[in-house]
Amino acid sequence: MNIQSRLPDFNTSIFTIMSKMALEHNAINLSQGFPDYPIDPTIVELVHKAMVDGHNQYAPMPGLPIFKKRIADLVHKSFQRECDPDNEIVITSGATEAIYATISAFIQTGDEVIIFDPSYDSYDPVVRLNGGVPVHINLNPPDFSIPWEEVRAKIGKRTKAIMVNTPHNPCGSVLSDEDMKQLSAIANEFDLLVFSDEVYERIIFDGRTHNSVLKYPGLKERSVAVFSFGKTFHTTGWKIGYSVAVPRLTDEIRKTHQFITFSVNTPIQVALAEYLSDHSAILTLSKFFQAKRDFFLEQIKGCSFKLLPCHGSYFQLMSYESSSRESDVKMAERLTKDFKLASIPVSVFYKDQSDHKLLRFCFAKMEETLERAGVILRKL
Ligand code: PMP
Ligand code: GLN
Repeated sequence: MNIQSRLPDFNTSIFTIMSKMALEHNAINLSQGFPDYPIDPTIVELVHKAMVDGHNQYAPMPGLPIFKKRIADLVHKSFQRECDPDNEIVITSGATEAIYATISAFIQTGDEVIIFDPSYDSYDPVVRLNGGVPVHINLNPPDFSIPWEEVRAKIGKRTKAIMVNTPHNPCGSVLSDEDMKQLSAIANEFDLLVFSDEVYERIIFDGRTHNSVLKYPGLKERSVAVFSFGKTFHTTGWKIGYSVAVPRLTDEIRKTHQFITFSVNTPIQVALAEYLSDHSAILTLSKFFQAKRDFFLEQIKGCSFKLLPCHGSYFQLMSYESSSRESDVKMAERLTKDFKLASIPVSVFYKDQSDHKLLRFCFAKMEETLERAGVILRKL
């Protein structure tokens, strides 16, 4: 049988490759972004209770009403945006599904979507799987700002949407109020949709605030914001997230969501709805991760790698430009095999060749793990 790959240029994701390599070489794993510390036992008990109480059958397709209500309250409190739980939220299998459902709801054959590189791995292939054409634009290092003039220059008749990500994976950069105003002006001038990946919205440092598309009147009608409880509650393996958008857009996302997964597992929705009746864990998350970032920075003082600014997310970028001419893929491999420390090479987040000599380290880890990583990094 002649099978033609629909994604011929893609292999297994770098996150899977590096985590596997870390395991094989018994290396400390600061590559794939996930916590290595236990989660709050309260939510585990709540999931258990939900199962024991019999919440084990299909949830309603868009999500459990009480869960959507709690999320709507959170959206209102966080972004001062009224949110109608019945018509503006979809509960998804992680942000990954929310991104897929959104892109497949709106992107048709030949539609162009602007994607900023470095970009999260799923954006480009999902646009392509839906017949769309990704248009990649490089962010400006070292602060990874958006080159707005270039964005304007690349917009054409087929441009349908712009994809943004703040706080940014892998850069740790955050979009400013000025960026959001530029985004709003461009989206309105050219009548574009905005897909906004905000999974790290609670992980933001140094007194900065998260500028959600949901906060901006000019963006509200044309944006879909995507979130993940994997990040917020340290439960990446639970794969539960949601999208927020005006009813006209949410209606379309529900149509694709119902044929991707139909509905998301019930006991976790019941448990998280209960857990969300108290916002304290959420409101202290930035403080929690800022302490982790600062602890990590303390451990790596004296390392020859240069730190890039990190204002959000749980990733720290480091440049080894002054130490080696090796490619970042080779460097990440050598660090894992010879020095027992796994990271992510940043070039894989680029469509076109990039040679920035940057590695990404995840600091959502126990202090003991970060200490051990620090010992290795200080020797480099
Ligand atoms: N977007 C970004 C920027 C991410 O970093 C991740 C996961 N790390 C996702 C989306 C996917 O989130 P989820 O695990 O909830 O599918
Ligand atoms: N988002 C995680 C990261 O950036 C990985 C998720 C995945 O493995 N697909 O590390």
